[in-house]
Amino acid sequence: MDLTNKIAIVTGGATGIGRAISLKLASLGATVIVNYNSSSKEAENLVTEIKALGKDAYYVQANVANFSEAEKLINFAVEKFNRLDILVNNAGVTADTLILRMKEEEFDRIINVNLKGTWNCSKHAAKVMAKQRDGKIVNIASVVGLIGNIGQTNYAASKAGIIGLTKSLARELAKRNVNCNVVAPGFIETKMTEVLPEEIKQEYLKNIPLERLGKPEDIANLVAFLVSDLASYITGQVINCDGGLVMY
Ligand code: NAP
Repeated sequence: MDLTNKIAIVTGGATGIGRAISLKLASLGATVIVNYNSSSKEAENLVTEIKALGKDAYYVQANVANFSEAEKLINFAVEKFNRLDILVNNAGVTADTLILRMKEEEFDRIINVNLKGTWNCSKHAAKVMAKQRDGKIVNIASVVGLIGNIGQTNYAASKAGIIGLTKSLARELAKRNVNCNVVAPGFIETKMTEVLPEEIKQEYLKNIPLERLGKPEDIANLVAFLVSDLASYITGQVINCDGGLVMY
């Protein structure tokens, strides 16, 4: 897998899974634009770390839920490099609670960041990639978008939405040589999941055939493959990376 001369944007790229993806793409030669919303220190440190490896990287603040901020993020790549080869829509948030307790604001916020944010960045990137007749978009959903989860009506809806969005986008952009796929992680150890009680982690473990929780690098490895030339005949697919938690 060689990503030399490729320009990549990773949304929410400064922490957790996004951080691992940014590092992996950079290690394969891509110039990585690390997007963050609030984690400025983490973004700055990551760019320093990537540069120390002898690779090029930038950080750009943007709230992906905001249409014009997402446009500004994509334009950063276009103005600096006159192209964008890879977009990884990884930014995501949770606000878990049962529907009887969930506030309307908690539904709207999760949909706005996870689903609308993915649409916003994809829309602006699609214009560039369609014109250059080349590109790879990988959207990070979740197995919860496939099977549902108690306490996640907002989050599961946003992730299921990402799947429909990506399949439609894959059909629209295929003739322009742009591949669009979904990666659906299972339980990955990041700050998103570290807040969950130990008994929930143990319950997940019992249901994971590979008998371990996932690491951010597990997801990064799959994303790296999907954005590489090795995956040029794969589009519109949902690929689970979950230790076998969900099989269908
Ligand atoms: P994380 O460390 O909390 O990362 C979430 C990232 O999203 C942060 O870097 C955050 O950036 C960014 N973000 C949040 N709101 C944003 C906004 N409005 N604009 C731009 N960036 C924003 O959690 P993670 O586990 O790595 O999650 C990464 C992705 O994987 C998410 O889409 C999540 O739903 C998905 N996922 C995770 C798991 C899991 O088990 N961990 C499972 C399935 C799917 P700031 O810190 O700068 O706000």
